[in-house]
Amino acid sequence: MRFLTAVIPPFTACYKAESPYLKLAAKRENMKIYDVSLPVREGMAVYEGNPAPRMEFVKRMPERGANESLLTLGAHTGTHMDAGLHCMIGGWRVHELDLRRVVGKCRVLDLTSVKFGCGIGEKELRRFGVKKGEIIVLKTRNSARGFARFEPDFVHVSLDGAEYLVKRGIAAVGIDSLGIQKFHSGNMKVHEVFLRKKIPVFEGLNLKGVPAGRYLFVGLPLKLEVEAAPARVILVRGKL
Ligand SMILES: [Zn+2]
Repeated sequence: MRFLTAVIPPFTACYKAESPYLKLAAKRENMKIYDVSLPVREGMAVYEGNPAPRMEFVKRMPERGANESLLTLGAHTGTHMDAGLHCMIGGWRVHELDLRRVVGKCRVLDLTSVKFGCGIGEKELRRFGVKKGEIIVLKTRNSARGFARFEPDFVHVSLDGAEYLVKRGIAAVGIDSLGIQKFHSGNMKVHEVFLRKKIPVFEGLNLKGVPAGRYLFVGLPLKLEVEAAPARVILVRGKL
C-alpha cells in the first residue's frame, strides 16, 4: 500500500497538473474570433491602378506529385498593412514593424454615420475618448457596401482626424477601405501623419457583422522587406 501511494500520485495532484490545459480549453470555447481579412483571389477588387492578383499552378496533380502555385500580388492587395516606406523615401519597412503595436487591446469605433465621400475628422472622433496605446479600428459604411468593386468615394480619414489619433498616442489604426485617405487627394499626408510616428496603418478590413466595442487585435503582415504587406487580421472577443 505504501509503495502504491509513492508511485501513483493522488487524484488531486493529477488534476492540478492538467488544470491549466482544461482552463485554456474552456476559454477557447468562450472565445469569439472575427476574421476581418479579405480572401485573396483572382478577380478581387483592388485599389484603382494597383495590379490585379494572379494565381496559377506551376505544378498540378495528378500530372505532377503536388499542387504548387505562383502568386503575383501587389503589396497592397486586400487586407494589408502600410509601412513608412509607402510615403517616405527611406522610410521603415514591414519587416521592421514593432509587433507590440499590432497585438493588443483594440476598440472598434462605430463611424457608420459618416457619408460616402466624407472624411472622419477630429469632430467625429472626439466623443470616443481615444486612449494612449489603443489600437483603433474605424468601422464605416464601407463594410456594409462590401468589397466586390473598388468604390472611389469610400469613407476615409481626414488630416485633422489622423492628427488627433496620433496626438492621443494610439498604437495602430485600421479602416474598412482599401485606402485610409481620400481618393485622388494628390498627396500622402494622412499616411505620413501615422507612419512618421511608426503607427502602422491597416487597410481593407472587412468589418461587416463586427459590433463596435473592445477586442484583442491580432494583425500580422507578411514579413516582407517592402512598403506594405498582405495581413491576416483577427479580432478576438471574450476574456483570455
Ligand atoms: Zn496601402
